[in-house]
Amino acid sequence: MEENLKILVIDDNQTDPSIVSLALTQTGISMEIDEVKDGNHALFVLINNHYDCVFLDYLQNQDSFTLIRKLQSSGIKVPLVILMDSASEEIGRELIKLGASEYFVKSRLSPETIAQILRSAMRIHHAEMRLDLVNQQLKESREQLVSQQRELTAQQQQIKQQNLKLLEISSLKSVFLATISHELRTPMNAIIGFSQILLRPKFGQLTNKQLDMVEKILKNGKNLLIKINEVLDFSQLESGKLELKPEILDLSKVVSNAVTKIRPLAEAKNLSLLVKIDLENTLVFNDAVRLQQIVINLLSNAVKFTESGNIWVEIRDITQNQVIITVKDTGIGIASQDFQNIFAAFHQVDQGIGRKYSGTGLGLAIIDSLVDIMGGKIDIESQLGVGSIFEIKLPRKINLAPDLGSVVFSSHENSFHSVYYPHLKL
Ligand code: ADP
Repeated sequence: MEENLKILVIDDNQTDPSIVSLALTQTGISMEIDEVKDGNHALFVLINNHYDCVFLDYLQNQDSFTLIRKLQSSGIKVPLVILMDSASEEIGRELIKLGASEYFVKSRLSPETIAQILRSAMRIHHAEMRLDLVNQQLKESREQLVSQQRELTAQQQQIKQQNLKLLEISSLKSVFLATISHELRTPMNAIIGFSQILLRPKFGQLTNKQLDMVEKILKNGKNLLIKINEVLDFSQLESGKLELKPEILDLSKVVSNAVTKIRPLAEAKNLSLLVKIDLENTLVFNDAVRLQQIVINLLSNAVKFTESGNIWVEIRDITQNQVIITVKDTGIGIASQDFQNIFAAFHQVDQGIGRKYSGTGLGLAIIDSLVDIMGGKIDIESQLGVGSIFEIKLPRKINLAPDLGSVVFSSHENSFHSVYYPHLKL
């Protein structure tokens, strides 16, 4: 309050000089005092000037009420001190209710009291202003929140709609894939079957050239059937319709069978295929067909992506209730940033048209899904140019979900699942 204050005194005493102004000048506070004689004039100067405090000295209380109301309706906010002739608490309280900051009785007027009143009126006014500001900010934040909430609700609705559409499209796609692959299987089986009949020695009659051509038809037919089966399995896994058929089985036999099927492929590339079975208990409760598909898939990938060196497959118990299948190769390897992506359906590290290695990119997605529904876990370790290790941990006894139709098949985002038999001779 040390700066030069601007004070307005409203005093309707037309003859004598204002005693308020007099008392104010004796407070020692540095101030500039303007005086007006009536409410209208006061309103005019208050609209056009800034004042730190207004003192209102009226004989008629009614005039005070009127002026305060006018100030309020004009939006003028200023500390307002009312001087009253007699001590009427009731009128004072009413004036404060209406918007005045302080009131006091003129008979108690002294430079000290008026200085005190001035300070407290200004403090109260500043506090009120701060409160007003905070309230205003709160109001604005609340309005902002409400509008953001409204926007969020609208966005949620939009996302919901889009999700519904996506679900619809996805289910259409599953139905399409399932129908197409199912429909393609029948004629493809006929092509394979009739080619096999043609190749039977007792069928005879075919020239060497014709035999060669039928063999090619059979080989390509089988390859095509592999891919069709792959898509069918994929669509079934994706729609949650693939059911495991568990039984008590010898895991070492499953792995040996898979190795027998893949060995010719490894030998054709001069790769050693080494098997280590280190199981105390070879029995597990699982789906033999799906387990074999997993191992065949990993092994055929190992053969496909290895140009020289070795491929290992190992099974061992980790605990009484858990087994681990490891497939290792000395192939081209996978960069660590591709680890997550290779489990996504149709994803291949080399996606270009001129890519060296064939395949649909469904194999690992299928393995991942199958391992997931078996309650297992798949881990990968790999280094470019050195080789890859795929480790599959499985419970010795898988748990069947009560409703397999509703099982969510993968822990990997964007990955769909099906079974893939690359290079496998049916
Ligand atoms: P596909 O073999 O049909 O391409 P997969 O889902 O089996 O599909 O594999 C996805 C990708 O992961 C492959 O295209 C390849 O880039 C990579 N990959 C899988 N296995 C190996 C491996 N043993 N060595 C190197 N890369 C591999």
